[in-house]
Amino acid sequence: MSKKISLTNKILIAMGLGLILGSLINIFTPEQPIIQTYFVNGLFHVIGSAFINSLKMLVVPLVTFSLICGVCGIGDINALGRIGLKSFLLYVFTTGLAVSLALTIAIALAPGKDFAQQHHATEFVANVSPPITDVFINIIPSNPIAAFAQGNMLQIIFFVILFAIAMLMTGDIGKQLAKTAEKLNEVMMQVVTLVMDVAPVGVFCLMAKTFSEQGFALIVPMIGYFSVVILCLLLHALGTFSILLTLFAKLNPVAFYKKMRPAQIFAFSTASSNATIPVTLHVLEKRIGVNNTTAAFTVPLGATINMDGTAIMQGVATVFIANVYQIDLGLSQYITIIGMSILASIGTAGVPGVGLIMLAMVFNQVGLPVEGIGLILGVDRLLDMLRTVINITGDATVTCIVARGENTIDDAVFNDPESGIIPE
Ligand code: ASP
Repeated sequence: MSKKISLTNKILIAMGLGLILGSLINIFTPEQPIIQTYFVNGLFHVIGSAFINSLKMLVVPLVTFSLICGVCGIGDINALGRIGLKSFLLYVFTTGLAVSLALTIAIALAPGKDFAQQHHATEFVANVSPPITDVFINIIPSNPIAAFAQGNMLQIIFFVILFAIAMLMTGDIGKQLAKTAEKLNEVMMQVVTLVMDVAPVGVFCLMAKTFSEQGFALIVPMIGYFSVVILCLLLHALGTFSILLTLFAKLNPVAFYKKMRPAQIFAFSTASSNATIPVTLHVLEKRIGVNNTTAAFTVPLGATINMDGTAIMQGVATVFIANVYQIDLGLSQYITIIGMSILASIGTAGVPGVGLIMLAMVFNQVGLPVEGIGLILGVDRLLDMLRTVINITGDATVTCIVARGENTIDDAVFNDPESGIIPE
């Protein structure tokens, strides 16, 4: 008797198979020209990149329509301000918790203390991070069309919210437009479903390509740093998020994690919170039961400004590099690291690898050598995948807390294990 496999499980299996195949290629045939040309840089690269593009393709229109619906659904500017402020403060708070946890554990375990001095840093171009003031100035788009064309999330969010508020203020015209946006949003959700249908193949190719290039051997000299980051990510996910979910969102964390699985798989395989927005929105609205009026607002905002996993990596990396270069950090520097990691998290775009670039900003501020980043470059891709999972889980956790406070979460949907499973 054949049991039907759900799409989520198919994606999960594809991910596992891609990971195994990629690792085998990396171990046994790393230099084999046919495999490299036709598979790693051919088939896997083309299908994987095309799949990432198709996810990214959904982000701007989906966020636009969904945010318009969200703001118009809230219907009142005070409530909008309240949701905005609450989610912003919670995002900053959880990132602060994440980096504090990372610093505490990294100081206790001291990764890098016995790191052999013969490990030399790879070339790293310093001073690539933008000044933090730019992060705030650039929230306002000087040209909204350019913002849409470049997919600049903060600028898009700013403009769309302003536009939707104006819709609320223009009576009938605004109402008609809101109805149209609702219909367009529904169609976009359907496009998400279509893209998800090909996800198993896309995820398989992404995994096979990444792991054929990123062998596990790279991790060996960096095992101390690598395992402390993973330990902190796990503690934050299973500890901090579970406590917050239980206390403030009144949700069972185990059920929450089960429902979050598709979004986490996408975050892991794309290493991009932004590209995962469509899936995070789908999961929160259809599987967890958060109303669009809250999720449409908090999810794109979170994918852009909330990076708990990235802040954790930055906290551990700072302690690691300080240990390797035998630089003593004092309390005031640790406090600076917390502040800078929060700012860096706000300034980090939800795309692969940016967390490492923003790390230069943290290093500059506390006087650590920026070339040190070259040491951790090799293992960053794998950590990027993992921290992106934590980044989007943090977005979802805060969304649930805000939704509980606003009474916009439907427990019947949350409690139904079958809800929101993508039709096959
Ligand atoms: N890849 C991460 C994200 O998209 C950002 C980073 O840490 O590089 O959330």
